Amino acid sequence: MEKLKNYINGRWVESAAHQASSVVNPATQEVLGQVPLGIGTAKDLDEAVKHAHDAYLEWRNVPVMQRVQPLYKLKALLEQNQEEISRIITLECGKTIVESRAELQRAIENVETACATPTLIQSEFSENIARGVDEFMIRQPLGVCVCIAPFNFPGMIPFWFLPYAIACGNSFILKPSEKVPLTMMKVFELMENIGLPDGLVNLVHGGKETVDAMLEHPKVKAVSFVGSTNIARYIYSKGAANGKRVQAQGGAKNPVVIMPDADLDVTANIIADSVYGCAGQRCLAASNIITVGDDNGKIKESLYEAAKKKVTGFGLDEAVEMGPVISSQSKSRVEMLLEQGIGEGANLLLDGRGYQVSGYQKGNFIAPTILEGLPLGGELVKTEIFGPVMSLLSMKDIEQAISFINSNNYGNMACLFTSSGASARKFRNEADAGNIGINIGVAAPMAQFPFSGWNDSFFGDLHGQGRHGIEFFTQTKVVIERWPREWTRKF
Ligand code: NAD
Repeated sequence: MEKLKNYINGRWVESAAHQASSVVNPATQEVLGQVPLGIGTAKDLDEAVKHAHDAYLEWRNVPVMQRVQPLYKLKALLEQNQEEISRIITLECGKTIVESRAELQRAIENVETACATPTLIQSEFSENIARGVDEFMIRQPLGVCVCIAPFNFPGMIPFWFLPYAIACGNSFILKPSEKVPLTMMKVFELMENIGLPDGLVNLVHGGKETVDAMLEHPKVKAVSFVGSTNIARYIYSKGAANGKRVQAQGGAKNPVVIMPDADLDVTANIIADSVYGCAGQRCLAASNIITVGDDNGKIKESLYEAAKKKVTGFGLDEAVEMGPVISSQSKSRVEMLLEQGIGEGANLLLDGRGYQVSGYQKGNFIAPTILEGLPLGGELVKTEIFGPVMSLLSMKDIEQAISFINSNNYGNMACLFTSSGASARKFRNEADAGNIGINIGVAAPMAQFPFSGWNDSFFGDLHGQGRHGIEFFTQTKVVIERWPREWTRKF
């Protein structure tokens, strides 16, 4: 099988890499492509930066109203091709077709929001800061911006950055996850037809070598990363040490608290969706489910029923509600973590290991699983599992729940289910997390809001999406001007 091509300077070109790794359908193990990796990919990156920098020098002075015109065309093309792109997401990433369509919808919403850049990029002007002196601030682009993406949202995450970067006058290089490169290849094929100049958007395949070349290249000015916490920390420290602007989103371990006054039946279904959606492979997946109060019998039963009835299988089957995890290594890791939980003293209330899907015996399937009774001081309550596992914990009151949440190193999301406004307000005010859900299971910010994240879930200052995107992809220049009357020539 031929190696996948890079998209550099408006053309699909061979990589200089000699090695490759297989892109594998996680439900069937079918090999879908060979992605270039290792030595040689740094040369590809260098080539892409050269062209991206040339393109930026022209693009930065194109009026912003013209810079967003290609985004309108992109929105239309994404909508026209939504079904095909969604199928590619499901084939390489494993999630259900319904989830893939929803993911792409979020991508489109970011394109729409970035179309507001002509307004969002407007700046400040103060007349007469001293007599006859005016001061104003302008936002200018940075130059070549790069994005390093994870496997779990191949169609959405690059769009947290790409549309804002180019609308602000930058050029862009994307390195998709080597596990799921095909979705963005399709999107870049569409982008060939939206009127962008050659070199403005580029796609370079690879892994660590490509990333390190990005972090070291003097012409790369900004790095947007999404992935696991250890790599996010590495990208942030190395990128910042090399003088780059960096936003690095990391992993998570998201708690959901159920108060005794919550509507239990509705809550159980919402939480099951939050835990098992995308087979638990999302940074906003609920993981630690905390019931508050003495009697959690009813909610436990409802959660068990909601989990048990989820249909696990091949994502292209419309009836399937949960797909496989991304790889056999990932499946083994989740199984190993379950063993660890049992070793720590937990009980497997629902065991999804060894689940077989008829016709897809080789798939990386794990059915919905529930662990209960994990010790609060143990390791697993702090570890991101990234699989379809609910950890059921019990606490005496909201104070204990908030204190437990705030002792966790991550801070991506925290949710509360209640019918009490006072509990909701306390939780919103005191829980240490960048995204809060009240009677919401997946508190995913819409494109107009920053995709927040705190502590070990985010390194940097400005997040992806919305106004933060505009601020991240521009640098401010302040101008102070005096035009004395006598210096102005009279005609
Ligand atoms: P990952 O960290 O393994 O990979 C992410 C990217 O980093 C990939 O493009 C990969 O090629 C690159 N990479 C991997 N190892 C590297 C290394 N040693 N040096 C340099 N680059 C390297 O993450 P993943 O498994 O693809 O994605 C899952 C993780 O992403 C989870 O932890 C999840 O919580 C997190 N995530 C976070 C958010 C968020 O918004 N906070 C969103 C989605 C996913």
